[in-house]
Amino acid sequence: MRILAITNQKGGVGKTTTCVNLAASLATFGSRVLLIDLDPQGNATTGSGVDKAFLKQTIYHVLIGEKTMKEVIQTAEKGRFDIVPANRNLAGAEVELVNEIGRETRLKLALTSVQDQYDYVLLDCPPALNLVTVNALTAADAVMIPMQCEYYALEGLSDLVNTIKKVRTHLNGALEIEGLLRTMFDNRNMLAQQVSAQLVTHFGDKVYNTVIPRNIRLAEAPSHGLPALIYDKASKGAQAYLELAKEIIERSKKVAA
Ligand code: ATP
Ligand code: MG
Repeated sequence: MRILAITNQKGGVGKTTTCVNLAASLATFGSRVLLIDLDPQGNATTGSGVDKAFLKQTIYHVLIGEKTMKEVIQTAEKGRFDIVPANRNLAGAEVELVNEIGRETRLKLALTSVQDQYDYVLLDCPPALNLVTVNALTAADAVMIPMQCEYYALEGLSDLVNTIKKVRTHLNGALEIEGLLRTMFDNRNMLAQQVSAQLVTHFGDKVYNTVIPRNIRLAEAPSHGLPALIYDKASKGAQAYLELAKEIIERSKKVAA
């Protein structure tokens, strides 16, 4: 089982879109995938076709110790992957856990019970470097960082890299950066091309070869509760996430070898 935290404290960079579409794409290649929504906005939940309004059990109940992981797993029927949903009550976990022993390792421990059931676990992080994100970084084998190639993108990256270093020192010595993913990429935009080139200069082969283009189908699919792969398989967006899944499967093989 390989656990990937999809994280960037910057909002709206494509974390959730990446989680849902990568989950569906990995599943297409035969991987057993669990997607965990760690954002009170619950966008990964909705985007996977689960109605977040009527949820009785969510990741919140796992983090505060009221439910086991197995009790909260649901099937995203159309995407053929499993999902642990989230909704607004997750925002309360932060405060409730603050004085608890082992508050940073709740997710990691909960995941040990499903270790044999999945090949990939994808953690959809909120746009914040908060306790829930620290739980994700503590549980993860590696971090995937989606980013838009904009002027300020690199600046935000250094805060994230510092947090990753701290988590490595105190909580999870094995945490790696698996890769940086260029999202919502517009080839005609000169600045995007420059920032993209800078990223490759700084981070080398940590930057995925696959680039996710700006594609309207990726933005439309969540309103139907579907991954783009099901909504419009031929779209450039769906095809890019299939490419990314292949690249990630290749990387996992190298890690295992
Ligand atoms: P948050 O920080 O709020 O959790 P996020 O990082 O999870 O945001 P998304 O929700 O995935 O980002 O994407 C932000 C918005 O951009 C959404 O409306 C989404 O549909 C849209 N979007 C994401 N990726 C693409 C893309 N490649 N092409 C077009 N639209 C996209
Ligand atoms: Mg999101």
